[in-house]
Amino acid sequence: MRRERLVVAGLQGPAYRRLRTGRQPRPVLNEKTAGGLQVTNAPTLTTKRRLLAGAAAGAAALALPRPGLAKMPLGQPQAPTFCRFKLGSAECTVVTDGQLPLGDLDALFLNITHEEIARELADNFLPTQNAVLEQNILVANFGDRVVLFDTGMGADHLSGSTTGKLLPTLRQAGIDPANVDAIVMSHAHIDHCGGLVGDNGALCFPNAQYFIGQADFDYWTDDAKIPANFLGRASFLAQARKNLLPVRERIHFYRDGEEILPGVTALAAPGHTVSHSIFMINSGGQQLCYIGDLAHHPVLLLEHPRTQFAFDTDPAQSAESRVRMLGMLSANRVPVLAYHFAWPGIGHVAVAGDGFRYFPVLPQMGGVTGL
Ligand SMILES: [Zn+2]
Repeated sequence: MRRERLVVAGLQGPAYRRLRTGRQPRPVLNEKTAGGLQVTNAPTLTTKRRLLAGAAAGAAALALPRPGLAKMPLGQPQAPTFCRFKLGSAECTVVTDGQLPLGDLDALFLNITHEEIARELADNFLPTQNAVLEQNILVANFGDRVVLFDTGMGADHLSGSTTGKLLPTLRQAGIDPANVDAIVMSHAHIDHCGGLVGDNGALCFPNAQYFIGQADFDYWTDDAKIPANFLGRASFLAQARKNLLPVRERIHFYRDGEEILPGVTALAAPGHTVSHSIFMINSGGQQLCYIGDLAHHPVLLLEHPRTQFAFDTDPAQSAESRVRMLGMLSANRVPVLAYHFAWPGIGHVAVAGDGFRYFPVLPQMGGVTGL
């Protein structure tokens, strides 16, 4: 009780008496709202009475146990959004540009029924009403060169406010955009080329060289080429022009099978866009395939790989590329990094029935292992 006396030194009246008797402080009635309870900050209390009530509550907390009341505000940030792993002698980091909510799945996945979509998702314990795509951005540091694959949506909010996070997540991972030497783009869609140029016109990666297919560059920067009914057409065109035209002189247009950088080889996988490509990445005898948008969903487009996706320029060709490349990757047991799969998008594919199955690699506290 000596400690209590120290705490309440100078107090007189009811509050002090309650401490001495060890009784709980009673809630203070708000005098203006008959019967309304207000323990502190009662607007009608005099300053003196507020002090007494507050001091009494604080001292009583020391004296008696009471139910725990949450004081921590809701909405705390998630863990830092980067994931690091070794690929041979290269240090790889996956960062994120944030999530893309897909909305109405029936409108996006073609030649598959509503019931089949619902069953596939339910069987895999996934929400049946919506799907959320990640934007997993790979940064490969080869020691003498830093290569970043695809750049997210930039400042465009076509898909809401959950995107455009690349620069902050790079900072969380300790990666300075000025240290990025090369930006490799799988294709020229808004969620892949959107992060090159800021709204002020400044280059987000001032020292980088850029790599993309010429057919994609020509198609998505040309108002006359994009079909009139393409979903989100105005944003796709505007962002391709905003981000690609200013860096035109720094672009290397890659070809199928070309080793565009030491350890990085482009493989044409067209259909999603006219020159959509995937990339084999090699370091120290280890291999990883960055598959870009070869598949947008690890269940709907792998279990039934000929399912078509509304954003494909040529859905049938896209399905053909998917089957061919997933067959090659599964036969050779090459690990993949998929831009839109569940974070961080690293795993393996294997033949299963008429299609494929995706086996995500589970990140551990020490990073990703098992590649
Ligand atoms: Zn995409």
